[in-house]
Amino acid sequence: MRILITGGAGFIGSHLCDRLLSAGHEVIAMDNLSTGSVDNIAHLAGHERFQFIKHDVTNYIFLEGPVDAVLHLASLPSPVDYLNFPIQTLKVGALGTHKTLGLAMEKKAIFLLASTSEVYGDPLVHPQAEDYWGNVNPVGPRGVYDESKRFAEALTMAYHNYHNVDTRVVRIFNTYGPRMRMDDGRVVPNFICQALRGEPLTIYDDGSRTRSFCYVEDMVEGMIRLLHSREATPVNLGNPAEMTILDFARKVLEVTGSDSEIEFVTPTDVRTKDDPKVRCPDIGKAKRVLMWEPKVSLEEGLQQAMTYFRGKLGLT
Ligand code: UDP
Repeated sequence: MRILITGGAGFIGSHLCDRLLSAGHEVIAMDNLSTGSVDNIAHLAGHERFQFIKHDVTNYIFLEGPVDAVLHLASLPSPVDYLNFPIQTLKVGALGTHKTLGLAMEKKAIFLLASTSEVYGDPLVHPQAEDYWGNVNPVGPRGVYDESKRFAEALTMAYHNYHNVDTRVVRIFNTYGPRMRMDDGRVVPNFICQALRGEPLTIYDDGSRTRSFCYVEDMVEGMIRLLHSREATPVNLGNPAEMTILDFARKVLEVTGSDSEIEFVTPTDVRTKDDPKVRCPDIGKAKRVLMWEPKVSLEEGLQQAMTYFRGKLGLT
């Protein structure tokens, strides 16, 4: 297949480039490098089946030749990023999804949308299955991301229903691993880097909120299975091993062997407003339709992530 990956220089996008190239496909990575980095794809430079195009997908996309699949991952998925760039976040979810869907329709390509567990907002149903409609505050600080992805899902299903575009929608739950940006503000890079530097681990509020962390290799495997499936409607992918942020902090200290303190802080900006109190994927549909479930344990995944961040911090 000849596959376009928007956000191809990002965290998950660059891992998808690697996996699809290894499977023998031709890959075009497109990225405006606002939060993605060429470092993530530098090892692919010169690969005969790989091409990088610097482009902002909120503008018209022109690609010569056939395209068999469009994987739309371009986005600003970290709370810190979407709070700093709210308009761009809305634009890439809305205009960017429109342009990439238009391209998929023109090329008769499969369209895969990277959506998010944030469509469930601060959920009132737990764990979250695909038929739950969510609890999102449209005018809260997280609304820019949540609503952009909800709109993207609606647009994707409209192109499926009215233009017969062959669609896939993955709702990605918290995913971590090598190539996450150290400064993206999310809990995994924050805690690992704080632990490695011997700084206190900053828990927002009381640490009782829950998340479920999926290693990137498992996520990419699930996404590739979804691409090759016939499932046009949303599928949750994530690791159902739920834990509190306090327990996660303890786990990071254990894996890194750090003697950092744990510090409870209240951020002065709006980043924790509407912060979901709980989050855990119901992956029944992925198990049934894709025969997929995560394989990598939190300890193994954290080891890999730690090795990566040690390198980035110059601690190797
Ligand atoms: N969090 C924290 N300390 C940090 C960063 C995040 O306690 O240094 C909390 C955050 O408030 C949230 C959870 O960790 O409850 C996960 O946050 P993250 O930004 O990783 O992603 P989210 O799941 O909120 O999109």
